[in-house]
Amino acid sequence: MNDVSPIHKDLDFDPEALRQKYQAERDKRLRPEGNDQYVEVKGKFAHYLDDPYVKREERAPLTDQVDVAIIGAGFGGLLAGARLREAGVKDIRVIEAGGDFGGTWYWNRYPGAQCDIESYCYLPLVEELGYMPKEKYSFAPEIYEHSQRIAKHYNLYENAAFQTRVTGMTWDDKTALWTITTDRGDAMKARFVISCTGPLNRPKLPSIPGIDTFKGHTFHTSRWDYEYTGGNHQGGLTKLRDKRVAIIGTGATAIQSVPFLGEYAKQLYVFQRTPSSVDLRGNKPTDVDWFKTLKPGWQRERRLNFNNMVTGQPVEEDMVQDGWTEIFRTLAAGFALGAGEKFSMEDGALGAEIADFKKMNQVRRRVDDTVKNPEAAEKLKPWYRQMCKRPTFNDDFLPTFNRPNVELVDTSEGKGVERITEKGLIANGVEYEVDCIIFATGFEVGTSWWRRQGYDPVGKGGVKLSEHWGEGMKTLHGFFSHNFPNYFLMGMSQNGGSVNLTHVLDDQAQHITWLIGEVEKRQKRYLEPTAEAEHEWVEELRKLAVMNTSFLEACTPGYYNAEGKIGQGGGMGFPQTYTPGAGAFNALLAKWRENTDMPGLTLG
Ligand code: NDP
Repeated sequence: MNDVSPIHKDLDFDPEALRQKYQAERDKRLRPEGNDQYVEVKGKFAHYLDDPYVKREERAPLTDQVDVAIIGAGFGGLLAGARLREAGVKDIRVIEAGGDFGGTWYWNRYPGAQCDIESYCYLPLVEELGYMPKEKYSFAPEIYEHSQRIAKHYNLYENAAFQTRVTGMTWDDKTALWTITTDRGDAMKARFVISCTGPLNRPKLPSIPGIDTFKGHTFHTSRWDYEYTGGNHQGGLTKLRDKRVAIIGTGATAIQSVPFLGEYAKQLYVFQRTPSSVDLRGNKPTDVDWFKTLKPGWQRERRLNFNNMVTGQPVEEDMVQDGWTEIFRTLAAGFALGAGEKFSMEDGALGAEIADFKKMNQVRRRVDDTVKNPEAAEKLKPWYRQMCKRPTFNDDFLPTFNRPNVELVDTSEGKGVERITEKGLIANGVEYEVDCIIFATGFEVGTSWWRRQGYDPVGKGGVKLSEHWGEGMKTLHGFFSHNFPNYFLMGMSQNGGSVNLTHVLDDQAQHITWLIGEVEKRQKRYLEPTAEAEHEWVEELRKLAVMNTSFLEACTPGYYNAEGKIGQGGGMGFPQTYTPGAGAFNALLAKWRENTDMPGLTLG
């Protein structure tokens, strides 16, 4: 492509200058430690995992047997339970570390917590339950309540084991049963086990020197301490009126909670390493009249439409029309313009890059238009391609920096907080004395799967999953591994993804329900993939991943690209997902189900 191509016409910026700026901002943030810059939350840090919401209840160990054990009571577990119940499965046990259903919405109760995927697409089973979401974007209390509504509707509280962490599971070939052990001394048995533990379930802390020397109060955003701050999900943090508070991190969580901290804290310091892209939220109450017009099947149709929009598939109409669909509409239009009549992937990619520059210029202009202090505004501008980091949408974050009690501490050269002392934090050589430090530093992503689960299944012949996956995850369709019969994974593994995770989870729950039904129908005891089928699937993913990996490689570090080390594997599992996305993946599975031989599976 050259300068006279339509995509370069009438540009009010220099693409090459932006490319260089992005590269420079990325390079200065690269850290040789990659993922190892974070501290595992254990030992002296273990208290950061304590449940501040529900008191522990004692119970006798369980040694009984169920048909299906579901590990995790978030939307994955709820959807698995719901779809199995619909198929007539009665004997189900949900096992969960928290004190209730909800998963990420059980733990994440920080003020302002909200789902930035449209509620009509995100909240599962609203049609089945006849529930009308209150707003276009639901706040956490509504989502948490909805998860309990699902559990009640499908009778999933019955037999559930809360406040219980799985510590191990072992397959017995003779009985074709799994024995699941837990931190409650349980040794329960199950024919089928479905793991739905979520992609972001273990809070992480930065390994800032002196982190354990601070004498004030600290907590992680996923265990919000309302006893200390006062108030609840909706705000009212009145106990902070006389407190100097520091929040570390400016990811999606901080973007939502900072406005509340700014409103109540005597003094708030926001420690930023990399700015987020913060776009318009524009939330609004559900139009009841519109909702009444929706026809049966509407949620599925809307979810598919959203998914097609965000994976660049052709659609007749953008039903959701929000920040997410705008990002992908813009990129797809840029790609089409670049590729032109004489289609070329390379020109298309350049077209998408220019469209991305334009979009991010708009995001940066929004900062200038909102933040009155020009120095702070400059520092709040993100310099990377939009999908390098999780885009955020919020109307209150940027204006918070116009408050006199709020200060942005942009850590010099993207290096982060230098040190934590007894009294506060040091950044850019300056000590900030505070009463409380809040870690909005996210969750483990690139660490090993069994570390994040807290258990390492032992399959046929005593082989451990960690050994089987020694050189990386190996599954068929992301659902199961050779030598681990009747053990299903849900969530982001080697399957088709979507930014609307509940959509993916529902499709997965339905596929697993179908598979379990087939084992029963064929009067077999178990199913597992063959080693060959597993190998072929992994190879297929590898071939498809090349373009995605090179995009992420050039990105500023973050959990999407294994903190800048994506080329060496890791990251949000991106090189390991089925990059054509959830729609294509489902089509592939539908076709696979048509073959009654269930290719790639052994049934015994
Ligand atoms: P993130 O991992 O996105 O953010 C962590 C933040 O901590 C980053 O800003 C990071 O900076 C910063 N940080 C880490 N170490 C240091 C350090 N040493 N000094 C200073 N800053 C540091 O975590 P979140 O909890 O914000 O979000 C996690 C994910 O949860 C989101 O990406 C999203 O997928 C999900 N989420 C979804 C929501 C929704 O609406 N659906 C809402 C909230 C979260 P840097 O960027 O430089 O690494």
